[in-house]
Amino acid sequence: VRRNQGEDEFHQAVAEVLGSLGPVIRKHPEYGDAEVIRRLCEPERQLIFRVPWEDDAGRVQLNRGFRIEFNSALGPYKGGLRFHPSVYAGIVKFLGFEQIFKNSLTGLPIGGGKGGSDFDPKGRSDREVMRFCQSFMTELYRHIGEHTDVPAGDIGVGGREIGYLFGQYKRITNRYESGVLTGKGLTWGGSQVRPEATGYGLVFFVDEMLRSRGSSLEGRRVSVSGSGNVAIYATEKVQQLGGVVVTASDSSGYVVDEAGVDLDLLKEVKEVKRGRISDYADARGDSARFVAGGSVWDVPVDIALPCATQNELDEAAAAALVRNGVGIVAEGANMPVTPAGTRVLAEAGVLFAPGKAANAGGVATSALEMQQNASRDSWTFEYAEGRLQQIMRAVHDRALETADEYGVPNDYVAGANIAGFTRVADAMLALGVI
Ligand code: NDP
Repeated sequence: VRRNQGEDEFHQAVAEVLGSLGPVIRKHPEYGDAEVIRRLCEPERQLIFRVPWEDDAGRVQLNRGFRIEFNSALGPYKGGLRFHPSVYAGIVKFLGFEQIFKNSLTGLPIGGGKGGSDFDPKGRSDREVMRFCQSFMTELYRHIGEHTDVPAGDIGVGGREIGYLFGQYKRITNRYESGVLTGKGLTWGGSQVRPEATGYGLVFFVDEMLRSRGSSLEGRRVSVSGSGNVAIYATEKVQQLGGVVVTASDSSGYVVDEAGVDLDLLKEVKEVKRGRISDYADARGDSARFVAGGSVWDVPVDIALPCATQNELDEAAAAALVRNGVGIVAEGANMPVTPAGTRVLAEAGVLFAPGKAANAGGVATSALEMQQNASRDSWTFEYAEGRLQQIMRAVHDRALETADEYGVPNDYVAGANIAGFTRVADAMLALGVI
């Protein structure tokens, strides 16, 4: 604990994974002999750096930048960058640690890493965001590369930020190295379906959970938290598959829209105007109401999809969902359900899909973007979406089958942790003590 002092989210993520691994270590003592778990918990490399930049008023601002290169046994480090004032080592390490198992679970050749900064893009002009990104990349560029470490977006980092970061990388290195970042725009090396991938993938996963039990999304009432990249495209895919999404939120509160969320309006408010979620309710009229603060999980639904941030669904929220008869909770965000919340859901027999399986569609499509960059090709939307759907089916089946194999049927947490772990652990054994 002293080794990673004060890094609460990192401890939480490690405890969650290790809690599933007892049966694996008993079955495979070679992992224990080679200290695979201790090595997995220690990042291969941790970078912390100064990011100075000038705001529009000419004042010098200072932020801290991070990149945690956690594990490269399966491929180059891969994982997003988060720009949010809450970012510190404990957040980046929890995300990087989770990323190892998630990436492994996709079956693709990608290692795990994560990065970001405590920079807050809210209220900053485009030019300020650009200058910040340029300063951030002026240090980061020397540590990344298409065969080394390939960052992408996360909270606060979307297409605009990836553009500024890629521009600065290209300028410093004099290399048009498309594969160095993913989440790029379509005209400069991006992939179809990458913006949609995490949200779509989440819903494909839920669809698989239902299909494998002879059911479907048709007519289901669904709550989604957040109104960013993951939330918006999860909402879109639920609607395409016949479900009704009745909520959206941001850090100021949530809206309930009994007529079903108007996606065009939500995109306009959030993606174009970069406004607040109350603006949605104001523009929508009678069917929607805004609730300041409060818990979006009080709204009765069949399926809940937390898509905002870590630890947003706690014990009380889980109890409210159970009281209202929820059947499935699937994590679009990383670690949105607290350990106590997970226990409440499990005790009530709610099917629960952990983020490292259910939100793997984003990174999987990033790996597809890398494939297209490497072959100087670009696929159609339909082809890329088909690949995403196949991958999510495979992730679902791998988690479910592994849970069966280890005697914990329907436990997607254990199944995902064990399946993700064994693939990385086997590669680490093969590569020797490094
Ligand atoms: P965005 O920045 O696009 O959206 C984040 C959303 O969550 C916003 O609506 C934001 O509201 C809300 N939010 C963020 N922090 C808080 C908070 N502390 N309290 C309440 N609401 C909050 O991020 P993404 O959609 O990309 O990411 C959402 C989650 O999904 C994260 O956990 C991320 O790690 C995970 N994820 C993302 C992937 C991707 O491909 N983008 C891939 C896999 C996982 P506000 O604007 O008010 O801050």
